[in-house]
Amino acid sequence: MSEPTWDDLETWGKRAVTWGVGYHRSKRDLPVRAQVAPGDIAAQLPKAPPENGEAMEAIFDDFEKIIMPGMTHWQHPRFFAYFCTNATPPSVVADYLIATMSAQCMLWQTSPAATELETRVLDWLRQALGLPDGFHGVIQGTASEATLAAVLTMRERTLGWAGNEAGLPGQHPLRIYTTDQVHTSIDRAIWIAGIGQENLIRIPTSGPLKSMDTVALNTAIETDRAAGLLPAGIITCVGGTSTGACDIVSDVAVVAKRQNLFLHVDAAWAGNAMLCPELRDLWAGSELADSIVFNPYKWIGGQFDGSVHFVRSPEDLTRTLAYHPEYLKTHGADGFINYSEWSVPLGRRFRALKLWFLIRAYGLDGLRNRIRNHIAWAETLCEKIRADYRFEIVTDPILSLFSFRATGLDDAGQLDFVERINSDGRIYLTQTNVDGKIAIRVQVSQFDTTKADVMLIHDVIGELL
Ligand code: PLP
Repeated sequence: MSEPTWDDLETWGKRAVTWGVGYHRSKRDLPVRAQVAPGDIAAQLPKAPPENGEAMEAIFDDFEKIIMPGMTHWQHPRFFAYFCTNATPPSVVADYLIATMSAQCMLWQTSPAATELETRVLDWLRQALGLPDGFHGVIQGTASEATLAAVLTMRERTLGWAGNEAGLPGQHPLRIYTTDQVHTSIDRAIWIAGIGQENLIRIPTSGPLKSMDTVALNTAIETDRAAGLLPAGIITCVGGTSTGACDIVSDVAVVAKRQNLFLHVDAAWAGNAMLCPELRDLWAGSELADSIVFNPYKWIGGQFDGSVHFVRSPEDLTRTLAYHPEYLKTHGADGFINYSEWSVPLGRRFRALKLWFLIRAYGLDGLRNRIRNHIAWAETLCEKIRADYRFEIVTDPILSLFSFRATGLDDAGQLDFVERINSDGRIYLTQTNVDGKIAIRVQVSQFDTTKADVMLIHDVIGELL
């Protein structure tokens, strides 16, 4: 059997495209969450790798027969779980081109177009989000990586840029302030940066948005300083994962400035909505932050993966992360941005191409229309569920995310109910914990969802209760 060559890409590329078109045409008929038991897929896979190459035909057949039944369909219009990872036809085409070239875009000279497009597209997004021109963008792999880069910068800035060299032993503990509404990526950044979970200080929250109490924040920082600890930074969230919690960033920014602390804003999901000027009150004050992250794949179709990270001081970021061994020096081509110096991993995919295709194909207006529709439909659905005596609303919509509970069921009953919903397959919802009790989340941000898809949630939960 002959090995595949690039000439075969024509056949298999066409086959993959035809498969993809069929998949997207029929995805509504698939159960949203995979309906397999643990081990079902593994049981069909050989335990050892093949010694000899196999025919592409056989591999493709197995992909359809073995792999596809074990997939949860994140592009399903009735995916209302977690947050979405939206793909679009233009971003898929771009991803295909990226894979075909498989360029490693770590330095300007390793693909000048990748660097220059990244700079330009991120500046488009900065403008689109209404951020001032003092922000500079970089695409990180994920929001977790962006937050890690921000936490490392906080650490180095506080230690006078000596932490990378000297390590943390012997230092006074660094302190980072946040709330209990932030994503676990913040905890993990703290672990990886060597700061330690016990130095991640949870400031109490209050109000409908579960916002950080900035008086308590200021007091905590001053108390720590007086005790000889080293306050290093504040991490706020706009659109927390559980119920969409939002800090009042402008108030937090006042404390950050007064205390001379680095401020990072995690707006991984909600940042997308800031494309709409009328929604920007939700993150007012973010323009005063040192670092902001949002994930275009979580709502506007930016195609997983790739997180947009804006920083006020690239100098601080690169002072924290850049390293210049001889094999990475760019003699004669210096003075350009080398984005690998802005991120933890050295290797970089050409992710800007996806955003360029996306933004040009839909225009900002096409993306904003979706966000506005999703928010309106989520609000309509929430009112419908609120009016139904069988359910109670636990948290009101923040953008297009709210949570509810079936009246009269205990936590175990709510979890059983979620499982019944997801085994049914027409919709996909996930649970969270609100003030110590289970609630069921609904988030509407799937790119192809319709009002009818969203309204079906009420029919399905009513039928399966
Ligand atoms: N921040 C928030 C608010 C999130 O909801 C998530 C994931 O859902 C993350 C950060 C982590 O995102 P990533 O998977 O890009 O690291």
